[in-house]
Amino acid sequence: MTQFTDLGLAKPLLKALTEKGYTQPTPIQEQAIPLVLSGRDLLGIAQTGTGKTAAFALPILHRLAEDRKPAPRRGFRCLVLSPTRELATQIAESFRDYGKHMGLTVATIFGGVKYGPQMKALAAGVDVVVATPGRLMDHLGEKSAHLNGVEIFVLDEADQMLDLGFVVPIRKIASQLPKERQNLFFSATMPNEIGKLAGELLKNPAQVAITPSATTVERINQSLIYIEAQRKRPLLAELLADKAVERAIVFTRTKRGADRVAKYLVASGIEAAAIHGDKTQGQRERALASFKAGHVKAMIATDIAARGIDVNDVSHVFNYELPNVPESYVHRIGRTARKGKEGIAISFCADDERNLLKDIQKATRQVIPTFDRRNDKNLAAAAAVADKLAPPEKYVDPRRADPRNNVPSELRKQRNRGGRPGGAGANAGGQGKPGGQNRGRNGGQAQGAPAAAKPAGDFRGPKRANGAADQRWNPID
Ligand code: AMP
Repeated sequence: MTQFTDLGLAKPLLKALTEKGYTQPTPIQEQAIPLVLSGRDLLGIAQTGTGKTAAFALPILHRLAEDRKPAPRRGFRCLVLSPTRELATQIAESFRDYGKHMGLTVATIFGGVKYGPQMKALAAGVDVVVATPGRLMDHLGEKSAHLNGVEIFVLDEADQMLDLGFVVPIRKIASQLPKERQNLFFSATMPNEIGKLAGELLKNPAQVAITPSATTVERINQSLIYIEAQRKRPLLAELLADKAVERAIVFTRTKRGADRVAKYLVASGIEAAAIHGDKTQGQRERALASFKAGHVKAMIATDIAARGIDVNDVSHVFNYELPNVPESYVHRIGRTARKGKEGIAISFCADDERNLLKDIQKATRQVIPTFDRRNDKNLAAAAAVADKLAPPEKYVDPRRADPRNNVPSELRKQRNRGGRPGGAGANAGGQGKPGGQNRGRNGGQAQGAPAAAKPAGDFRGPKRANGAADQRWNPID
């Protein structure tokens, strides 16, 4: 078994790792660390949870410390681009943690917070900057930052960058980087456009691919419950009240949906908090900290807000609404059963979501065991109370839903003024053949699902105007 001590890392790094209790590198660390130490470009196909942050942070810190020199004023020696503020914060924390015996400086640059402290942090030069693309573009425009001193460039979660419309700002940022540099590129998936971007940015890269092992998904006990859309909230409250649920992430499709669910749960006496981009940075950090500390049992999140957030010991994942793309289903349920543990994933499916279910079963080549809780009188009574608390939201067929509808009107106005780059070509996946599903415990016969509308074609995140500031379009949905 390879140990961290076998990888040629500097003593202060090994000391920090020992203090964290890490002795053995994860597969991506074992493969990537020697390559990055040798100065090569790297294409890493891996997602959060594989240990990819340390796979780049450790060798970068080693290289920076080995060739110590002051960063230029308003410049930095290493730039890490992250799609979301939460992930940027986590990456910076990792750099600080692993590098705590090295005396290197680390700063974060992201939107939604004041410029002043960021300018101050950058003024004297920093060793490592972790940034979201929009706010970094603003600093470059204002000349409060420049990229002349960048020796190592990391692009993390590239596929998510694409979904958020960050590819144009990334190309702009890359065009300002010095030609001589080391590039590290990480993505969980490799859609064509991301492969193209990698081809442009990387020089003769080594490639390391860590696919989420089938065993992770196998360890997750998956089930699905057919339920009327308007009765999902009481059903969720009922399931969350079970003592077996220690810590749960509940996925909703919209920010408003996340708020409504959280409000209902709190009123039902269940500790819950919603996390999304309409909350202030402080609110989100507090919600996440309470969840991590176990004070809050359920965190209600949208896909993007939850992405990259690393929380261990999640016992349950609930898909309050099914995701529009099957890959998200795998990402979502992968929030549980981390580090060899078992996990439970329960999905709710209203009649309108049946086609999404078919796509998921087709893509994951599995039949999810189903239960039927429709026509449950107790839930009907509870749903009536729930409606009084917060009137029901108009249900929109997910295939017709346009994520742009969720953009607050003020932001929409601003973005329209700025113009949008060309359309995205995502589609919602094929129409799976019907059939093959287990019927529910209660013997409820599924009515023929209303024929879902054809995929509307574009379910990617909203596009942002070239170089628009982070506040105009918040990267956390
Ligand atoms: P990441 O994929 O970078 O988000 O990392 C997932 C989690 O694994 C984080 O909580 C890390 O602190 C943790 N981790 C990373 N490397 C190791 C390791 N070699 N041994 C144990 N835990 C690790």
